[in-house]
Amino acid sequence: MVKFGLIGNPVGHSTSPRYFNSKYNRENINARYEAYQLDSADELINLINKEPALVGLNVTSPFKTDVIPYLDILTDDAQLINSVNTIFIDRTQSGKNSNFKLIGHNSDVDGFKILLKELSLDINENQYRSALVFGNGGGARAAVAALLSINVNPTIISRSKTKSISIPDVDVLTYGDLNYDVISKTSILVNATPLGMAGVNIDRCVDIPYDAITSPTFCIDLIYNPPVTQFLNRCAHNGATIKNGLSMLIGQAESSWRFWQNQLHQLEK
Ligand code: NAP
Repeated sequence: MVKFGLIGNPVGHSTSPRYFNSKYNRENINARYEAYQLDSADELINLINKEPALVGLNVTSPFKTDVIPYLDILTDDAQLINSVNTIFIDRTQSGKNSNFKLIGHNSDVDGFKILLKELSLDINENQYRSALVFGNGGGARAAVAALLSINVNPTIISRSKTKSISIPDVDVLTYGDLNYDVISKTSILVNATPLGMAGVNIDRCVDIPYDAITSPTFCIDLIYNPPVTQFLNRCAHNGATIKNGLSMLIGQAESSWRFWQNQLHQLEK
């Protein structure tokens, strides 16, 4: 039996073990998926040594960027957004840190592309050519890469302008730059901050002039629990079409699975 898993801290809340183990049962796949809570990314190599059946890992907060120095190869998406949420472990070759080679990928980009497809945006219409993405972490950068891939021009909104973003030609503004005019002229708004998540942040949302939102606006939240966050609730109240992050979650999981399977097939050739 081969093993897959998730590393992060914390990992207890993650739906991934249930998602993948149900998939393996349903599709008769002889595999097991486990969550591993690590104290830091430098425990990655040790974990892979201790678990010889491990073939692939997902990576969640706070290690999506911290794992990169331990990897041998990055796919284009992972390199562009400087964030890895999927690792393939190739035990047939040696890498720079160990006797296996580690390939890093980011399936959140695919996950967000799937979410965008479900919205059926008409990008040919001028009004859907620009987007504001709130947050500057791995989720935000995945959304930015997916928007760029369909020729939408995204702007990152961060609490601080000094933070660097790895994606070339993407502007960074602060919340102070967002007046009524900027919001009313943008038809795609994406919350990629943790504000609104079940737990400590459930009653919170990004501080923007919500009354500037008009009805042809699409408002997307990467959060899926609760299904309607404060952000989505306030956007819907102003007539926007809203969508939560559930299809991105499922999309990224299936994309990780396809990535691991493609890598395994290449080894068999
Ligand atoms: P992250 O790396 O921690 O980044 C979150 C960003 O949000 C930070 O870079 C920060 O940007 C901003 N932020 C943090 N606290 C804030 C606050 N109090 N007020 C305003 N902005 C704040 O997290 P992430 O991995 O990108 O995830 C972000 C959210 O997306 C989480 O809720 C996560 O669960 C969700 N997510 C969902 C999926 C999915 O499949 N549906 C995939 C990935 C992520 P600045 O410091 O620049 O302001």
